[in-house]
Amino acid sequence: MTRTGRSSIFSGLVYCGDCGAKMQCGSSDNGDPRQDFFDCAVHRKHKEKCPAHFMRASVLERVVLKHVQAATDHILRYEDHFRAHMEDQMRLETGEQVRVRKKKLERGEKRIAELKRLFMKIYEDNACGRLSDKRFDMLNQNFEAGQKALKAEAAILQHEIEVQERQDENIEKFIQKALWDRYPRRVRPA
Ligand SMILES: [Zn+2]
Repeated sequence: MTRTGRSSIFSGLVYCGDCGAKMQCGSSDNGDPRQDFFDCAVHRKHKEKCPAHFMRASVLERVVLKHVQAATDHILRYEDHFRAHMEDQMRLETGEQVRVRKKKLERGEKRIAELKRLFMKIYEDNACGRLSDKRFDMLNQNFEAGQKALKAEAAILQHEIEVQERQDENIEKFIQKALWDRYPRRVRPA
């Protein structure tokens, strides 16, 4: 935040190329927004520790915008290649994550089945008098709580697996969004 109360969209994201400290956003004495700038926090306090590092906010914005446009241009030019590459990447990543989650889900389901078997056992023990009603109630409550937690966890895992298996659609949405933002008049393919 500058003394004029303005802040840049890049505030907190800019680091000094010389000393690595954060660059702070500031305004010139006349308060002209075109002269808002970033300078090195270390340089501000200890001039001997870091040489002047200074950049106009407007220059930074132009440079970043140019990079973003170059990236979307690149995606557009090599759309098929980009799509294939992203899909490969996602497939590798989500494939591994899905495998891990499915294993976890399998373990959870095994544990739920195990609890059911144990429950049947204490139920029988209680029915034939081997287990007191008081003890049975206590164990039963533990089982129910455990069962509930395991089922909730299984539901979350199931949901996460479904989300990851839909990643391919997300890549397509990302490409379309990047391109339509940049080229709104582009003819939408049939
Ligand atoms: Zn510096």
